[in-house]
Amino acid sequence: MASQEIETLASALAKLPGLGPRSARRAVLWLVKRRETSLLQVLEALTTVRDRLAECDICGNVDTQNPCGICADPRRDVKQICVVEDVADLWALDRAKLFSGTYHVLGGRLSALDGVRPEDLTIDALVGRVAAGGVDEVVLAMNATLEGQTTAHYIAEKLENYPVRITQLAHGLPVGGELDYLDEGTLAQALRARRPVG
Ligand SMILES: [Zn+2]
Repeated sequence: MASQEIETLASALAKLPGLGPRSARRAVLWLVKRRETSLLQVLEALTTVRDRLAECDICGNVDTQNPCGICADPRRDVKQICVVEDVADLWALDRAKLFSGTYHVLGGRLSALDGVRPEDLTIDALVGRVAAGGVDEVVLAMNATLEGQTTAHYIAEKLENYPVRITQLAHGLPVGGELDYLDEGTLAQALRARRPVG
């Protein structure tokens, strides 16, 4: 029987996506055995993240600086905006180094079932960025789910009166596929073969 403190930590970790009670308990044991090394590193990293992480006012990315490292990078092509549902999707695309433009994080997807309405997402902010001018292309990189595609169509309609090319990741994404889980080859192909919406 583990102590109350260890149980508390294990149940906190068990709430993380991808971790259940069993793996959480194993992670705790692993950390406890490495109190002075790995545990300390995790502790310091968590503290830094808690103290310094902020949402980028421009794109919604999460970073230790605001504007984020991507928005602040002068080598980024501000004429292209890639719209994603979540920060995890942004990170997946950016890890793959496939896209040299900037991003826009919606903060989710439209969903009648979950009661997510357009005003719950950052769609107005996206329209604002496009309306401000200087944007040539908006790449809609929603997940290949029904809700993702509904969201893409909604955004395409919102932007149709602006002089901007609206494209979408190519078919070939697995149906129901979440960007974050795709390998880089599949992502690269979907991005390279992107096509106009409509
Ligand atoms: Zn940003």
